[in-house]
Amino acid sequence: MTDLSRRTFLGTASAAAAFGSVAEARETAVQRKKKGSAMSIRQDIAALVEKTPFVDTHEHVWEEAHRLKSKEGASHFPAPDFGILLTHYTDSDLQVSGMPPDDYAKLRSYDVTPRDKWKLAAPYYARCRHTGYQQCVRESVRALFDEDDIREDNCEAISRKLFDAMKPGYYRHVLRDVANIEYAQVNNLETAVFMETAQPDLLAQDISTVCLSSGLNIGPVLKLAKRDASDLKQWHEVIDWVFATYGPRAIATKNQSAYGRRLDYALVSEADAAPLFARFRQNEDSLAPSESKALEDHLFHYCIDKATEYNLPVKLHTGYYAGHGGMPLERLRKNASDLCPILQAHPKARFILMHIDYPYQDEVIALAKHYPNAYVDLCWAWIINPMASVRFVKEFLMAAPACKLFTFGGDYCPVELVPGHARVARKGLAQAIDELAESGWLEENDIPGIVDRIMRGNAHETYDYERALRNWSR
Ligand SMILES: [Zn+2]
Repeated sequence: MTDLSRRTFLGTASAAAAFGSVAEARETAVQRKKKGSAMSIRQDIAALVEKTPFVDTHEHVWEEAHRLKSKEGASHFPAPDFGILLTHYTDSDLQVSGMPPDDYAKLRSYDVTPRDKWKLAAPYYARCRHTGYQQCVRESVRALFDEDDIREDNCEAISRKLFDAMKPGYYRHVLRDVANIEYAQVNNLETAVFMETAQPDLLAQDISTVCLSSGLNIGPVLKLAKRDASDLKQWHEVIDWVFATYGPRAIATKNQSAYGRRLDYALVSEADAAPLFARFRQNEDSLAPSESKALEDHLFHYCIDKATEYNLPVKLHTGYYAGHGGMPLERLRKNASDLCPILQAHPKARFILMHIDYPYQDEVIALAKHYPNAYVDLCWAWIINPMASVRFVKEFLMAAPACKLFTFGGDYCPVELVPGHARVARKGLAQAIDELAESGWLEENDIPGIVDRIMRGNAHETYDYERALRNWSR
C-alpha cells in the first residue's frame, strides 16, 4: 500500500495554494483560484506517483553475485565504471548518431580509462543527450551518484562511486531504496530457461519459452533436464518437465521470438508436427523454412497451454527492436493483427503485450479493449519515446479497462539504469494523469485508485508473486 491515502490526496488537492506574481495580479479571482487549484493538483499527483512503489514487470538484470565478479575482471560483463551506463540502449543512440563501432566497444573495456572513454563518447552523447535513453542515463546518475550529468571532470568520480557501491545487497539498495520498486520480474538472459536466483523475493523469474518452441534449441534444455528427446512426444515431456520444475516458482513465461519472425503462429496438430520434429532431430538443417515454422508454431501453442495450466501470464515481445540498423518495420506492423487468432485460441491464457507494440501502440489499445485476455505493458517504452508513452497512457485509460495496464519495466541488464528509467516513467505518468484531470477526462476522486492500480495493483492481481515466493522457500 502507499502511505499517501486517498483522503490525504484529496485534502491537499483541495487546499488551493496562493500564487503571487505580476501576471497573476491581472487575473480574475476565479481564474486565480482555478489556476492555483490546478497547480496544487499537479503537485499532489506528482507526489502521489513519487511515493507509490512500482512493481517492475520486466528486467534482464544479471544475477547479482555474477555481476559483482566484474570487480575482479569477469570480462563478459562491461567494466565496472561509468562506461557501463552507456552500454545498454544508449549504445544504439550513440552509434546511430555516428559513433564508430570500434570506439563504442572501448566503452565496455577493462583496459581503457574512464577519462579516455568519456573523450570517445562525448561528441556523440552531445548529439543525442535529449533522447529518452540519454535522459534515463542522467536520471540514474542523479539518483545514484549525486552528480547532475556525466562530464570529463566527474567521470572518474562516478566510476569510483559505482565500483565502491558494488557489494552484496547492491541490487536491493538500487531497486528498493533508490528506485522505490517492490520487486522486479526478470527474464534472465544468462540461462536458456530459468535462473535459480539467490534473491527470489526481489528478482522474480520468468520461464523463457524461446528455446522450447519458437527458437527451438534443444541442446541446452536436454542438458538441463538430463533427458533425451528423439521424438515429439519426448520433447513434450521435456517441456512438461520444465514447467513442473520451474513453473511453481516462476512469475510468468516470456518469449521474444518477434525479433526473428512474425507472430502468425498457426494451430498445427501434433500429428503434423511429429514427423517434422523427427527429421529435425536427425538433421537440424533438414527442414524447409515453412516446415520449421510449422514445428515452431505447434510448440509455441503447446507452451501457451502449459503456461495456462500453471496459471502463468504469457509475456510476448511486440513492436520496436533493440539494437540499430536492422529493424524490418513491415513485420512489426503486423504484430497486433497476427495476435488476434492466438488471443481467440487461448481464452484462458493471459497475454502481456510488451513495449506497447511501439510504434503501433494504437493497435494494442484496441486489443486490450476488445479481448478479455490481452494486457499491455509499458516496459521499455518510456525511454524509447517518452512523449508517445504519455500519449499512450492517456489514450489507453480512455479506451480500455485500467486493470489491463502495467506501467513500468526498466528492461535493463545493468541494474544502475533502472532508477533513471523509473524516474522518467514517474515523470511521464504524473504528466499523463495530470493532463487527463486538467482537461476534465479523469475525476479527481478516481486518481488515487488508478495510480495505485497501474503502478502496482494490477501486477499483484495478475502475477501470483505470493505463490511463487512460497514455492521458493519449500
Ligand atoms: Zn526485454
